[in-house]
Amino acid sequence: NIRPLVLGNWKMHGSLAGNGQLLSAIRSAWNQSSGAAACDVGVCVPFPYLSQTESALTDSDIAWGAQDISVHAQGAYTGEVAGPMLAEFGCRYVLVGHSERRAMHGETSELVAAKAQAALAVGITPVVCVGETLAERDAGRTLDVIAEQLAPVLALGSQAVGAMVLAYEPVWAIGTGKTASPEQAQEVHAAIRARLAQAGSPGVRVLYGGSVKAANAASLFAMQDIDGGLIGGAALQAEEFLRIAEAG
Ligand code: 13P
Repeated sequence: NIRPLVLGNWKMHGSLAGNGQLLSAIRSAWNQSSGAAACDVGVCVPFPYLSQTESALTDSDIAWGAQDISVHAQGAYTGEVAGPMLAEFGCRYVLVGHSERRAMHGETSELVAAKAQAALAVGITPVVCVGETLAERDAGRTLDVIAEQLAPVLALGSQAVGAMVLAYEPVWAIGTGKTASPEQAQEVHAAIRARLAQAGSPGVRVLYGGSVKAANAASLFAMQDIDGGLIGGAALQAEEFLRIAEAG
């Protein structure tokens, strides 16, 4: 009875012309679908396309957001984008701590928590991403890694945590075509749910991400503690993305 959410993460893909087609296709199909009654949908796009996305999706049932946020509200931080700027472009969501940022930009779990707080400060829902690498899974450390990644986020307190979305994305499943099985994902989601409950926020949505496709979405979303998905590659094709959203 937690309302599901299906979010597209476009990563560093897109162009003005291509986005225009994708956004209008998603918008018109979702408006005609009965899915909007049962599931929230959104797209997280590269910063330069926020204005285009806002124009294309205003007054639709599809929300939009960004893929990163600065911990600072303004100042001499070349290349960063601040929460108040995202708010000006109507962002409802922002991804924080995606594994690509943790791995390639050295983001620590403490920084990720600070970014979540920066989003909350401007009324944007942070989507906090966690997940283990293959080496960590093989070493039997999955649940410990998740707990370590969650700790500074949960320390923000139940009011903050209650306003977030979490996403479990096993690094070995991202862009590899190797989806976690519904049972593998559920095991981690249940552990995340238990931590959320301890922190006083059992109703927070926990999305699964990693090679979600129309063909496997329904079996993943059917699991007890999987409340929707964070979709990479499949979010770049309107029809595929909509079929995933309809499974939500
Ligand atoms: P893929 O769906 O392409 O595996 O990407 C998942 C992801 O990283 C979404 O944030």
